[in-house]
Amino acid sequence: MKTDITEQAKRIIDLRRFQAENDAINNKIEALKDEKFKKLYQTYMTRVIECAKNNKELSADDSKLKIQYLEQLKKLGIPYIEPDYYCKKCGDTGFVDGKYCSCLTKEINKILKKDSGFDFLESFTDVDFEIFKNKEYMQKLYEKMKKWCHSDYKKTLIYIAGDTGVGKTHLIKCMANELINLNHIVRFTTSFSMHQDFMKSYSTKDLDEKNNLLNKYLNVEILFIDDLGTEIGKYRDITLNYLYQVLNERKINRLPTVITSNLTLDDLRDYYDERISSRIIDKSTAINVFLSGEDLRLKDIKNK
Ligand SMILES: [Zn+2]
Repeated sequence: MKTDITEQAKRIIDLRRFQAENDAINNKIEALKDEKFKKLYQTYMTRVIECAKNNKELSADDSKLKIQYLEQLKKLGIPYIEPDYYCKKCGDTGFVDGKYCSCLTKEINKILKKDSGFDFLESFTDVDFEIFKNKEYMQKLYEKMKKWCHSDYKKTLIYIAGDTGVGKTHLIKCMANELINLNHIVRFTTSFSMHQDFMKSYSTKDLDEKNNLLNKYLNVEILFIDDLGTEIGKYRDITLNYLYQVLNERKINRLPTVITSNLTLDDLRDYYDERISSRIIDKSTAINVFLSGEDLRLKDIKNK
């Protein structure tokens, strides 16, 4: 993933922390102007320091002091003197036990969503299966994909094939939403814009730019590629090489990739070379599903 996206998100979290801490300091300065509060608060803080020094617990009287100064604070109309962090889990640091806190991944995903043009996602819970002619098949497929979202991603690649208008994009929008709610970092791209980045990466002489253009597909935790097979133009070999690199490295690094396409598996073999189609078809690491255009029937390729 482009590191500047993580940096951008961290800046948002940092700003929240500074704001919360600054508000708390200002509140405390204001509260200390009141003699009664000042006396109670300072007596309590002296006790806290004493106890810490002597490795003792605070007494019931000390707790009373705290209650009293908080009551006085209330009377003064000051809401708090300790930072009121936006995220209680991480105290607006963005990290919990060295891992990204959900507030940080949420901000990263917000930026990624904007970046991808997929601002609006769908939810598995809101799907109206009545619109599908083949309701039961679609229900099964949605359930299967939801289950995958909650899995450990042993199957690192999902290939969803079907004609235009059978609901492939709707399905992956539900999946992306589910994954974001599970605190994963998701990038959405169309095959077309990925191809454009490949071409830019190929033609630029700026090494950083070259790497950044590729890394956003190589490193992101979960990558969605919508409409694979629409991208190949004049520079077929270049596109194929880059696409292979993306699929292969993601597979090696066990990073999930979800692809939609109009191409059936047979088309896929014709359209792409063996290196690419075998990555997508490999049953040990991939799930292939097919949405039929006529009756929206799901045919699991594995059962064929
Ligand atoms: Zn947090």
